[in-house]
Amino acid sequence: MSTKEEMSHGERVRAAIDLKEPDRVPAFCTLSWAVNLAGNNLNCIGKKEKDVSMPQFLNTPEIQAEAHFKATELFDADFVWCYSSNQPVAVALGCETSQPYWSTTAISRTAIDKVEDWKNLEFPDIEKDPTASKQLDTIRLVEKGLNKRGNDTFIDGLTNGPFTIAGLVLGIEKLMFAMVDSPDETKEFIDFCTDVAIELAKAQLDAGADQIFCPDPSASGDLIPPDFYREFALPYAQKYCKAVTDHKDRYSCMYHICGDTADRLEDLASIGASFLSLDYKVSMKEAKERIGDKVCLCGNVNPAETLFLGTPEKIEEEGRQCIRDAAPGGGYIYWSGCDLPIDCSLKNVKAFMEVPIKYGKYPIN
Ligand SMILES: [Zn+2]
Repeated sequence: MSTKEEMSHGERVRAAIDLKEPDRVPAFCTLSWAVNLAGNNLNCIGKKEKDVSMPQFLNTPEIQAEAHFKATELFDADFVWCYSSNQPVAVALGCETSQPYWSTTAISRTAIDKVEDWKNLEFPDIEKDPTASKQLDTIRLVEKGLNKRGNDTFIDGLTNGPFTIAGLVLGIEKLMFAMVDSPDETKEFIDFCTDVAIELAKAQLDAGADQIFCPDPSASGDLIPPDFYREFALPYAQKYCKAVTDHKDRYSCMYHICGDTADRLEDLASIGASFLSLDYKVSMKEAKERIGDKVCLCGNVNPAETLFLGTPEKIEEEGRQCIRDAAPGGGYIYWSGCDLPIDCSLKNVKAFMEVPIKYGKYPIN
């Protein structure tokens, strides 16, 4: 039995970020899957018709806030994630997105065609932007509701990472060519995207978010080699994290990167993020050995093969292994390698969220 008193959600998360051992391993949240907790969707899993569509969930702060309150009860969640688009900065800069009935948003039209056109982009007014303002409203509602319940679950907002935003605004293929053809112009453009992301992040923290979830999938090892990462992604991720954490505190900026990033782990540790979320392609054991004393790590159950297609037993086994690999000594937050597929069964998500409660009590054996 643990001798430690049970911590609140906020205390647990902060202890892990401080590279200490909390009462138990904290768990990051279900992200997009939370749409299943809206309205009567939970009873519609596996059926084609849903009670609440994804666009309704994203665009109606009251509906989304209710879903988050349900999540905190159902999973004893340490985090909730508020968002109105998966690409809020790119949308504020003029990109158009498709909003499918039952899927995350995707860019359907980029804001610019040539990298040099970034100079024509207007710096958005965050409060007046229709998408960003909904995100702020959701955060305000969730903060108020959790406060009333005496619940200090960590509230995360969203901006994408600067390099990823640039890839959304210009188109990822064009960004790849631009890095080679006009590197200086490209850096100015990415720097501009960084500044807009910082403003949106600050507005969310001011609205009541504890932290910003910052996924940077386009900077993954599957897309750009380490020297390009160091030149075009890392300095802007560092600038972003510094501005965000300076604005609030050292707990307020997490960084997620997709794919195999074993070739740049030390770079990722130097970003200055509160914690670093790694995809399932990276060995948690190796990451813990190489950078576990520098930054709190988060991950990394396989989202598709294990969470979506696997059994609860497989999830428990893989989740437990993540805890064994990365939790001892503290500085670890349990999660998946990337966003949970929204069609995961409730039984699998429950099994996933129960792992740290069952096996994450410190001291870890
Ligand atoms: Zn990812």
